[in-house]
Amino acid sequence: MENNVTNNNIPRISQWSGLVNCKCPRCRAGDVFTGFTYSVKGQKMQEICKACGLKFEREPGYFYVAMFVSYALNCAEMISVCVAAYILGLELSKENIWYYVGLIICTSLVFAPFNYRYSRMVLLYWLSPGLHYEPERIKQFKS
Ligand SMILES: [Zn+2]
Repeated sequence: MENNVTNNNIPRISQWSGLVNCKCPRCRAGDVFTGFTYSVKGQKMQEICKACGLKFEREPGYFYVAMFVSYALNCAEMISVCVAAYILGLELSKENIWYYVGLIICTSLVFAPFNYRYSRMVLLYWLSPGLHYEPERIKQFKS
């Protein structure tokens, strides 16, 4: 029980939980996005964390790096879908190549909002030097 609470009685939130729920990487309390992944207005990012005051875009063009993460996610998804189709019985031949192309295009379109969101979250959580979990910042920002 004591391991789940910080010194200031703020509950500790795991890194994985914070990332999956798109919470601020520093306090893991404030939302990074304004809505849900597949909502019409859901892909809008907050400028600063409403709980601790962290500015998410740490420098101009900071989220360009997320394109590389998004590319890796997209490749992994496309390969996974093609392997799954092959295992489920879609023969890899010249006649079926357009089914695979269609699968790849559909996969890219369906997962685009997911990749956009989680590439930025991976960048903030795992690829940003000097950005650590500091739950005590919540209190400092509010006071
Ligand atoms: Zn925060």
